[in-house]
Amino acid sequence: MCFGPFKRICTWGPLSALAIIKTVILMTIYCSRQSWGQHTNASTDISFIVFIFLSGLTLYHFINSIYEGPGFLPYNWTPESDRNRQFLQFCNVCQGYKAPRSHHCRKCNRCVLKMDHHCPWINNCVGHYNHGYFTAFLASSVIGCCVSSYIMISWLMAVFSTRPLPFSPPSVFTLVAVMFSIGLSIGVVIAVGMLLYFQIQSIVKNQTGIEIWILEKANYRNFSMDKPFVHPYSKGWLFNIKQVLSWHCAAPGDGITWPVIEGCDQYTLTREQLAQKEEKRKRARRYSVITPFTGSWFPISHGFKVFCSPPITDEPRIKLEIGDTVIVTRWRKHWLFGERESLTIPVDNRDVRVRGWFPRPCAIPVSGKDKDSDDSSELDPDVRYLTRNTSGVSKSTETDSNYGSNSRRGHRANSNNSRKDK
Ligand SMILES: [Zn+2]
Ligand SMILES: [Zn+2]
Repeated sequence: MCFGPFKRICTWGPLSALAIIKTVILMTIYCSRQSWGQHTNASTDISFIVFIFLSGLTLYHFINSIYEGPGFLPYNWTPESDRNRQFLQFCNVCQGYKAPRSHHCRKCNRCVLKMDHHCPWINNCVGHYNHGYFTAFLASSVIGCCVSSYIMISWLMAVFSTRPLPFSPPSVFTLVAVMFSIGLSIGVVIAVGMLLYFQIQSIVKNQTGIEIWILEKANYRNFSMDKPFVHPYSKGWLFNIKQVLSWHCAAPGDGITWPVIEGCDQYTLTREQLAQKEEKRKRARRYSVITPFTGSWFPISHGFKVFCSPPITDEPRIKLEIGDTVIVTRWRKHWLFGERESLTIPVDNRDVRVRGWFPRPCAIPVSGKDKDSDDSSELDPDVRYLTRNTSGVSKSTETDSNYGSNSRRGHRANSNNSRKDK
């Protein structure tokens, strides 16, 4: 089953989403079938027809979100003019420059066009080509679950009412199954509804989840300057919506060049990203490991506080030995994020950098003072994203410092992370 095109769908995310969709659809059909044609509640008949239509839309947009995909930047991509290379970051994995709004996704292992985030539920990134499908999938599933909740709750109320039932009394198992489905359906409305809200916000502003984070930092950096940083892609809410949503859900443009507002150019945002990256590189500190770390996600042996405050992100933890050196780029109160310095040079030029989180007590700064643990400017974008989005979406973009990298990739991608994931 898990071969060819099925590979993409045969993971826990899409399979869980399909299981939820299937359970809600089947239980709603069951409840509707029993009261179908009964003149006691004609509105449930109409609701059922609407529900079937929305279920079809949900499945259609779900499958298209997965298989249309976000669109990937070709390997070894370079801008048409060599002069513009200086404004772009280089992806060492794809061996090419990152076009404006593109970011490298660790899960997809490719540079993704106008990357928003990597969504585990569709086992794919949300980006340029599938952003419309993904948003339509969220909208149809939320509205569909509102309707299904109405149908199933109406059925439940009929069962518990004192009036004679128009169908045979259900078994306890059926009652539990319907109640479980109602919970599932309401859960989808709340969780997916929140994600839909953030997606609509992001579409109206023409800012991806990753760009929100970049712009926050840009505003912070330019706070004291006369001219605040202006997002170059936002050309009014109607224009912004048309960039993603249409009846056929097809995105306009090639995902590489973008319409920008007056006074900006194609590289306005990428220049800001490079400046942020350079600042981050300067902030990086070298730490020496004094206690080994296994890479465990919940290391109780490193203290209760470390155990209770793991970074809320899907980024990896790194295994460390005494004497290792780590270039730290992000600080939490009880955790640090960094890249382990490697003494060996990869022969095939693959990206083998070992980066991730580890408990703060495991290492001490080699020189200078330990950074203030409450530095809010270092807040992980993944955390920010997940804080505003509780849907379980993970951000998986590349994120770190280029400390120690060669000069070309010294301005390595991106925004993030989750966020990103991310
Ligand atoms: Zn890449
Ligand atoms: Zn991805």
